[in-house]
Amino acid sequence: MTLGLDEVRAPMSAARLVEVAVDAAGAGGARPFTYAVPETLADLLRGEAVLVDFGRRQALGIVLGEAMAAPGGTEPKPIVDRVRSDGPLLPPLTLRLARWIADHYLAPPALVIRAMLPPGLLERLKLVAERTPREVATVLDDVDIHLLDQLAGGPVPARDLAAPDGRAGLLRRLRALAARDLVSLDWTLLGASAGPRFERWVRLSASGGDVAAVLSRGERPSGRPLGPRQVAVLQELAYGPADGVAAGDLSGRHGSATLAALARRGLVDTEVRERPRRPLATRPPGLRGGRPPRSHRSSAQATAVAAATAAIEGRDPTPLLLDGVTGSGKTAIYVDAIATALAAGRPALVLVPEIALALPLVDRLRADLDVRVALVHSGLNEGERADEWRRIRAGDVDIVVGTRLAVLAPLADVGLIIVDEEHDPAYKSDRTPRFQARDTAIRLGLEAGAAVILGSATPAVESLGRALDGTYRRVELPDRPVGEAPSVEVVDLRAELAAGNRGLISGALDTALAQLDTDAGEQAILVLNRRGTASVVLCRDCGHVQGCPDCERPLVYHQAGGTLRCHHCGRATPLATRCPACGSPRIRYLGGGTERVEREVRAAHPRLRVARLDRDVAERRGAAARVIDAFSAGETDVLVGTSLVAKGLDIPTVTLVGVVSSDIALNLPDERAAERTFQLLTQAVGRAGRGDRRGRAILQTYQPEHPAIVAVANRDAATFYRSELDLRERFGSPPFGTLLKLTVALPDRDAAEETGRAMVTGLRDRAAAGAGGRVSVMGPAPAYIARRNDRWRFNVVLRGDDPVGVLGEPPGMPWSVDVDPETLL
Ligand code: ADP
Ligand code: ZN
Ligand code: ZN
Repeated sequence: MTLGLDEVRAPMSAARLVEVAVDAAGAGGARPFTYAVPETLADLLRGEAVLVDFGRRQALGIVLGEAMAAPGGTEPKPIVDRVRSDGPLLPPLTLRLARWIADHYLAPPALVIRAMLPPGLLERLKLVAERTPREVATVLDDVDIHLLDQLAGGPVPARDLAAPDGRAGLLRRLRALAARDLVSLDWTLLGASAGPRFERWVRLSASGGDVAAVLSRGERPSGRPLGPRQVAVLQELAYGPADGVAAGDLSGRHGSATLAALARRGLVDTEVRERPRRPLATRPPGLRGGRPPRSHRSSAQATAVAAATAAIEGRDPTPLLLDGVTGSGKTAIYVDAIATALAAGRPALVLVPEIALALPLVDRLRADLDVRVALVHSGLNEGERADEWRRIRAGDVDIVVGTRLAVLAPLADVGLIIVDEEHDPAYKSDRTPRFQARDTAIRLGLEAGAAVILGSATPAVESLGRALDGTYRRVELPDRPVGEAPSVEVVDLRAELAAGNRGLISGALDTALAQLDTDAGEQAILVLNRRGTASVVLCRDCGHVQGCPDCERPLVYHQAGGTLRCHHCGRATPLATRCPACGSPRIRYLGGGTERVEREVRAAHPRLRVARLDRDVAERRGAAARVIDAFSAGETDVLVGTSLVAKGLDIPTVTLVGVVSSDIALNLPDERAAERTFQLLTQAVGRAGRGDRRGRAILQTYQPEHPAIVAVANRDAATFYRSELDLRERFGSPPFGTLLKLTVALPDRDAAEETGRAMVTGLRDRAAAGAGGRVSVMGPAPAYIARRNDRWRFNVVLRGDDPVGVLGEPPGMPWSVDVDPETLL
């Protein structure tokens, strides 16, 4: 046979090329690689797992999509083989999102893919042998026959096959059998989880039912007498659910010997059932929905619902900012929007910032909507996460609710995305990939043609900026449908100190606590912001915070070396012993903890039952829920805590909120410090007065004139946002520019700082040469946590039009890159 001229000339580059996320550690996996698709794999789909040559070894990869041509004119290597799984691991929509995340956040694509798959899935890559239907036509030796016997029951991983001549010999034999078509050998990703778990269930048999009936009449059944434990089991089963009780629970209560004895006597039947690992399987829907039955939508709610409906029906991804005060009825809007999306045949995705807020919202949604909900957050165990993942991948759910991880759920389609409390810093991932879930959700809306709703009582400054410049649409909900806004008082702590009060609780707050009407069920919440404890130098007489002479930002005290450093420009200043503003010697490091507040309140008010919730408590599993449940039930009067207690609590009997330290976060050398303080204070104030009695909030501060505090006290958010936006515009910060933070970490302090300086010089040259538009480069400045894991850390911050353009390729070790950082600390 001769080849036609065309076929001879058919250039290699005409082969189909694909981009592959290679699952290899190190800088190698920092970007997608281009591979050629051999003819044998012509039907290869996006999202399939493949085996590729990578360096001197083979690695697992995921096909991200088609590639145009290999960069640099190199000849792409062919894909070695396809890895068997149930088709593509991820749907096209999720793959497009993965590519965007990898590009935007400069994250290794394989790590993005990993975050999108059930934990450990890629580790379950195995070479699996399976018997083919072909008859054995030739004579085989005993070892081969034994191998084929082991495959009679179905496919088996090669690792699990017994063979006398070692692993290498086993593989040789399998390959030989494969060459004769008696065995097929495939690299396979074994099921997305440990497989279904099974458990034994127990219920009464027919004769057991008769015996139980006799017992319930108070009579003695005939036959051999029953022990008291056996009687207890029979009664429990007789009054329990008709489909029985899990054997594990029963034997836990009554002993396994009791169960065995009853089974031997034929009084109970046991049966093995698959155990559903759906976290919501047994949870009933909530009683309270979005709004009270038979109530009418407020006019603001109606406006919001109309805007959402138009966006859903028009597949318009322009974000809709629901700017609504705490208690303004945003949940009811979510419910109506979700119903609209479902009626259009498309699922919805709902994001919340904290695990603790996920279930209450799910309960409320399920009270109004009869829907299949998947729950995604890091608190689920691996089996639960894998099961929820599979349900979502199979299209078996109507709504996915979860924390930031949920934005990576493998949805083939989505018609509505809701980001509740969109301003919350918890939406930013603190590990690679460092994605911002709200921003990723907005991108997902664009990719999917989905409506996007951002809800908050205290929108992020950049979100409000984008609403004001017309990038987003905005609907305001300025009032609560029921109840009144709480009153706010500001207490000047400088005056407290002048009056001789050295404690953490001011006179005004102390009086308010004394007046708390516990007989009427009144409760109080005391909030402390511990972020940045003991780091800022503050004068207790005049409130002056020592700032950088160049940048005027607050200086941070560093124990190592005993110096003050500017985290903006890196400048070091000696520690003052007197206040530079008023000369007072009473300057100190701002601090104080929740435990101290708890102690002071107990000592001053022995009648009050005080509970505490901070990070230390929350780290004990289930402890946070117990503290909150006890407080909700009125078993404690005062809850002292960190910002954890300022968010989301909806307890009608809370009439008093005290913010013990409004300043600490304010003084952090971070450009979002004022915004975070404003949000925390507004949210904290919003906890008070949700019931019949009017709420009261007391804010303690050394800086009563600070705009963030004035804004909360005067309920004047607009002025605050305007002044913050002015500042950001001046600095080129979001939404007017982009931030990028580079962190170098090295064991030697001077080497770290020197590496930082060299980076700054290099980047400034690139910026001056015009790469990336107008970009400023600041640093190196010590990281807020200056030393971690025995490494000194310095930050370099890029700010402006296109910092990623200035940076070019990510620098790799010892640098880490954070695009759109949540904080510059
Ligand atoms: P948000 O999420 O905005 O803080 P919620 O959705 O929790 O507010 O609503 C606050 C309260 O207002 C809830 O108890 C809810 O039932 C009630 N509510 C919502 N909409 C209405 C309405 N149109 N009429 C009366 N009450 C409403
Ligand atoms: Zn002073
Ligand atoms: Zn400075």
